[in-house]
Amino acid sequence: MDLFKVEKNAEVGRYAVAAKNLKAGEVIFSELPFTYGPKSDSPCLCLGCHAPVDCTYLCTKCKWPVCGPDCESVKIHKENECEIFSKANAQFQPVEDPADTCLQYECITPLRVLLEKERNPKRWEEEVAVMESHDSERKTNPIWEFNQQNVVGYIRGPCKLTEFPEELIHKVCGILEVNAFEARTPSCYTIRCLFPKLAILSHNCISNIHHAVDCVGNGDFNDCRVTVRAAIDIPEKGELYSSYTYSLWPTLVRREFLRESKYFDCKCERCGDKTELGTHLSTLKCQRCDNGVIVSSNPLDDTCEWKCTHCDYKTHGRAVRKVFAAIQNEIDQVEYVGGSEGIQQRETIFRKYKSVLHPKNAYMTILRSALTQLYGKAEGYTLEDLPDIILERKIELCQQLLEVLDVIEPGMSRIRGITLYELHGPLMIHARHQYQYGALDRDDFKGKLQQSVETLRKAVEILKHEPVSQPEGQLGQMAQAAYEQLIENFDLLVETA
Ligand SMILES: [Zn+2]
Ligand SMILES: [Zn+2]
Ligand SMILES: [Zn+2]
Ligand SMILES: [Zn+2]
Repeated sequence: MDLFKVEKNAEVGRYAVAAKNLKAGEVIFSELPFTYGPKSDSPCLCLGCHAPVDCTYLCTKCKWPVCGPDCESVKIHKENECEIFSKANAQFQPVEDPADTCLQYECITPLRVLLEKERNPKRWEEEVAVMESHDSERKTNPIWEFNQQNVVGYIRGPCKLTEFPEELIHKVCGILEVNAFEARTPSCYTIRCLFPKLAILSHNCISNIHHAVDCVGNGDFNDCRVTVRAAIDIPEKGELYSSYTYSLWPTLVRREFLRESKYFDCKCERCGDKTELGTHLSTLKCQRCDNGVIVSSNPLDDTCEWKCTHCDYKTHGRAVRKVFAAIQNEIDQVEYVGGSEGIQQRETIFRKYKSVLHPKNAYMTILRSALTQLYGKAEGYTLEDLPDIILERKIELCQQLLEVLDVIEPGMSRIRGITLYELHGPLMIHARHQYQYGALDRDDFKGKLQQSVETLRKAVEILKHEPVSQPEGQLGQMAQAAYEQLIENFDLLVETA
């Protein structure tokens, strides 16, 4: 029996509800993608395994970049674009920097969809052709002309596939833009997959499902299977929601992203609430008085006034959007800075905006999320090296982050699992230090250790569902092993501390 039912209404179209009471962690469904391939704005990738390439090796048949002989013979390439390109002699044009966005790749995934449609007309008709493509909105958007040149033009021109009408190719582009989900290859490169069932779920800025894509990168048609589970308990007839946006962004930014890329205005409960359900992800500090915070007067109107809750200070949604953009920009600058340098640069941004943003504001939360993973790993900052004051900082960061995640990413969420894992280590080491200094007696020490083990158990409970082809799945295995060892050696740990 299917665990979910598809329903329809005139306003929102198709959506899915639970067919019975679902328990957190329960598998609702699993499916293979209709197809998968490079994202839009992709740099040069191997067309077999989708890892970045330097373009020195070209497929012997079609002359497009692949890693080597193994990758040129995998199905997703060989039975798709490779045949078309080689028959039409549509060759890859050399590029200056393979790491830059390469427009020649825009046609790959739409072309794979079209070829899969020919191979599997029934699935196309039943599951893909019914997807929303927002053609009328997209027609007046620059994306239409972009697709006309880079996708429609290439498929009907150099590829000589005039049997695919222009409207159909545009529709495929729209279906991909609106419905595709991201997945990571084992080389940690992001690709996009078209999951017809998953795409039926409506969007909500608080998702109640968890989806994980098992992308092993073997280039088979049956790679990238997605498994969808209930993230929290969902009652029978309860609507299933996935999120199409980054959950840590503030409302203004999420709604703008959804409007520009998915063509709708989100009016979910979180978007409609001035404090984002008490998380204060959008809230700023008042610069005029000491007691007030600044919140939107109407979060569903991006251009409304923002007011202090205490004094009569007012500003505009547009001004707030600019502040957010400036901070995001600073955070982006340090995105790839790791190690102790990465810690210091993020702590500097954190201090800089402390007086401007609410302590739980989205950008403080985004910084916390990066810092919780850097403290304890970076050189000079490994857990065993950390002085108590830094261990306490890591514990505080994890706990503050979890307070927000409990609301916006409830239940079986990947980021909650990772954060719980990050929290258990410093809890344990900090407790041991305290016991060694005599700041804790034996019973309290035991209690703190149990708390750390319980935190790790919760992390395992979440991360065990992640595929081992992905870093979170590997972390889950490590966490499981650590948990078993801790349980086995618990008394010894107390004895020898
Ligand atoms: Zn490859
Ligand atoms: Zn080829
Ligand atoms: Zn929303
Ligand atoms: Zn004020």
